[in-house]
Amino acid sequence: MAEIIMGSELAKALRQKMAEEVSELKQCGKRIPMLAVILVGNNPASLSYVKGKEKACHEIGIASKMIHLEATVSQSELMQIIRHLNEDPDVDGILCQLPLPEGLNSEEVIRSISPKKDVDGFHPINVAKLYMNEDGFVPCTPLGCMELLHRMGIDPQGKHAVVIGRSNLVGAPVARLLLNANATVTICHSRTQELAKIASQADILIAAVGRAKMITAEYIKEGAAVIDVGINRTQEGKLVGDVDFESACTKAGWITPVPKGVGPMTITMLLENTLKAYRQREEKQ
Ligand code: NDP
Repeated sequence: MAEIIMGSELAKALRQKMAEEVSELKQCGKRIPMLAVILVGNNPASLSYVKGKEKACHEIGIASKMIHLEATVSQSELMQIIRHLNEDPDVDGILCQLPLPEGLNSEEVIRSISPKKDVDGFHPINVAKLYMNEDGFVPCTPLGCMELLHRMGIDPQGKHAVVIGRSNLVGAPVARLLLNANATVTICHSRTQELAKIASQADILIAAVGRAKMITAEYIKEGAAVIDVGINRTQEGKLVGDVDFESACTKAGWITPVPKGVGPMTITMLLENTLKAYRQREEKQ
């Protein structure tokens, strides 16, 4: 039976460490790190993600600045707000919750955030840094996957990692992180043939597909580390991953559950990125 790796517990331990770091800053009378979060419109899912991010900041003692804009805001107004945040000396990290309402250009928004404050790691400069194996900001969910592997005691070097999914948000950056960590990486997607045959050769299997319970035992090599990024809601309203947990547990060596797996790690990595941005900015002064 697989060992179940609770992202929620790892996230708690990492947040505790961050809280201690922030508390020390406060005791030394230093400036407190700050994350600015822009939300445009009232998409309920986005609103709940943004609230979760604010709460997480609050829990570890870092400041958050929530900027909630009407869905009717113009592109130029939004860009102006980002320019102010880029220049604001108190702001370390900036993120704009995606997707944006129709009519707004998210690519332009992403490019307008200073790469030094781009804690989501979506700016092309940070994307390039990841692909050049240079230090920059890496998207939070892929970073969380790497932390989970670390927690499992798995060094990707020399291992065969199969990533199912190639999005810019998850699949592509996690594949690159694994390659940078010297794994042999196979990326699969919707046109991949014989997916189960390929996936079942993986020592490390990352599922980032968005298809409820698609990955059954047949896709898993005996003893593999399985990280389930997927978040899907069943017709009954239950949250499930891309991996069929019960079936996968019979083959995997390690597995992350949904919920309480990758999800809590994503926000934790956002906090890590904000602290990293803070440290880098403080060092420069
Ligand atoms: P996307 O829809 O952008 O990408 C899905 C990927 O899966 C695509 O590359 C697609 O291939 C591939 N795919 C779709 N169907 C199949 C199939 N039948 N066989 C093989 N590959 C397939 O999703 P995201 O990358 O944004 O997210 C993936 C999942 O992770 C979602 O469930 C999302 O909710 C979840 N997620 C979870 C987060 C967390 O914090 N836990 C954060 C972000 C996402 P193709 O490129 O060919 O279309």
